Amino acid sequence: MKPKIVVGHLYPDYLNIYADRGNIAVLERRAAWRGIGFDYRTIGLGEEANPDEHDLYYVGGGQDREQALVAPDLATKGESLREAVAGGAAFLAVCGGYQLLGRFYRGRSGAELPGIGLLPQHTVAGERRMIGDVLLECELEPGHRRTLAGFENHAGRTYLDEGAEPLGRVVAGFGNNGEDGVEGSRFGSALGTYLHGPLLPRNPWLADWLIGKALARRLGEPPDLEPLPDDFESSAQRVSAERARARGGRF
Ligand code: GLN
Repeated sequence: MKPKIVVGHLYPDYLNIYADRGNIAVLERRAAWRGIGFDYRTIGLGEEANPDEHDLYYVGGGQDREQALVAPDLATKGESLREAVAGGAAFLAVCGGYQLLGRFYRGRSGAELPGIGLLPQHTVAGERRMIGDVLLECELEPGHRRTLAGFENHAGRTYLDEGAEPLGRVVAGFGNNGEDGVEGSRFGSALGTYLHGPLLPRNPWLADWLIGKALARRLGEPPDLEPLPDDFESSAQRVSAERARARGGRF
């Protein structure tokens, strides 16, 4: 029996800027290359996010306007999504979607959008947009340090709760807020990040981490994913990392 993962993509028609949809294409391909089925389902306005249905959730980025259009609906899905992650579902949230997984996002207008309180953080928009290439050092599994390279473009400054786990340490770029040297947020198998690009084509290890977590939920045990020939992806990360390093520090 061919294994599969069920993926729920939240608001693809509203939160999908800077080619974030490319992350779904990478997850689908890297699953297919390993003979893993990829049951892709969208979860739009007014549609239920059944916590027992999905092994992996994804939400992309968006401008304040689109965030305001989806935030009230996302709030109605909050309990189901928190329950799903508590039950082992994986989650990747990018930028605008990442901000709405925290407690709230206060945009440039000063209007405060409710988040779902899944990730231990809140976000407040500042005057200056934080734009440019970013390089992070991550350690999602103890002892396995990996780099992430991507591109950020956000007004939001995200502040993690005391003791909350970031996605990674900023090597170059602004990160969550340009002050505390960390980027993104993690809660169990749920990850939030500002990194666009899209993120996964140039960071295949993270795509595999998410596929592994999703399959572990489906099968009840961590799978042994065979390595893939990632020469092209690795060179893409090198180019992105070099651009970030050339940018220097955080400001
Ligand atoms: N509107 C949010 C901000 O400006 C998120 C932007 C995005 O998703 N790139 O911070």
